[in-house]
Amino acid sequence: MDLSLSKIICHKPKTNRYQIVRCIFILDLLKGSLIDMMFSGRGFYGPFLRDSSIGSNVESRPGVYIITNNLRNVHYIGRSDNDVAYRIREAFRRHPRKYTKYYFRYETSPRNAYLTECRLWHRYQPDDNILHPDKPDYTNWKCPICK
Ligand SMILES: [Zn+2]
Repeated sequence: MDLSLSKIICHKPKTNRYQIVRCIFILDLLKGSLIDMMFSGRGFYGPFLRDSSIGSNVESRPGVYIITNNLRNVHYIGRSDNDVAYRIREAFRRHPRKYTKYYFRYETSPRNAYLTECRLWHRYQPDDNILHPDKPDYTNWKCPICK
């Protein structure tokens, strides 16, 4: 968190520690609700807790998913060309202690899933996806951002 940003928002040239902490708390809340609005307003379902049954929430269709722990940071973005439920289960199985919540969105085709994953990856640069999303070998699809 950038403390100088908090000071600017507080509109006070000299702030004590309590005021800065209070501003950081408010900024954190705003950031959390902004992420939530961004995802829930774009066809995403969630946030769901990892313990809620993925089997009853998510169908076996093409889609993209987003893993977050605190609703403020995007930790991982993934997709499936045919079974997004399986991929979400795998993400939690591989990281049983690390990840806690997820959003997901169905896509009408594997290609659309790839395009959405690319856009999200470029936008949020998740900590746990260092590599650019990979296209299926049998396609010549191009990332809409890199082109
Ligand atoms: Zn790209």
